[in-house]
Amino acid sequence: METLKAIGYIGTSVNMLTRKAEDYLEAILNVTEDKGYARIKDIAIALDVKPPSVVEMVKKLDKKSFVVYRKYDGLTLTEKGKEIALIIKDRHDTLKAFLEIIKVPEKIAEKDACTMEHELDAITTKQVKNLVIFVKSAPEYPQWLEHFEKFCITGKHPCEEKGHRSK
Ligand code: MN
Repeated sequence: METLKAIGYIGTSVNMLTRKAEDYLEAILNVTEDKGYARIKDIAIALDVKPPSVVEMVKKLDKKSFVVYRKYDGLTLTEKGKEIALIIKDRHDTLKAFLEIIKVPEKIAEKDACTMEHELDAITTKQVKNLVIFVKSAPEYPQWLEHFEKFCITGKHPCEEKGHRSK
C-alpha cells in the first residue's frame, strides 16, 4: 500500500482516477481471478461495452502504468493497478454486504454497490465495513436486525408493540 499512500490515493476521495477507470480495473481483476487471464473481449462482456471502448480505455490505463496491454496476449494489471482494483473490490463487497444487511435485494445491492464504491469517503467505507463485520461476527443473529426486518414490514418497532418502552 506504500505506493498508493505516496500517490495520495488512500485516505483521500477517489479523484486520481475516473469512476470509469476504476470500473475497468475492478473488472480486469474480477475476470482475471475468474478465468486466469483477461482479454479485451472478456472485459467488454463484463462491463457491457463495445470492444473498441475497452481498447481505448486500456491504452490510457497502460500509459499510466495501471495495466500492461499487449495486443495478442491481453491484459495484466500492474502492481499499482492491482492495488487500486483490490481497494475498489473491497469497497464493493463491503457496500454490497451492508445493503444486503438492510434488506436491499441482491441484484439492486450489486448495482448500487458499484455506484457507491467510487463516491464515498474512505472513513465512511471503513465504518460501513466495521458495521458489516460487527453484524456478521455476532454469535447469534442480532435481535435488533430481526426487529428491523419486522419494522420494514409493519412500520412499528416490535419493542413498542410488546410495551417495552411504554412511557
Ligand atoms: Mn463494483
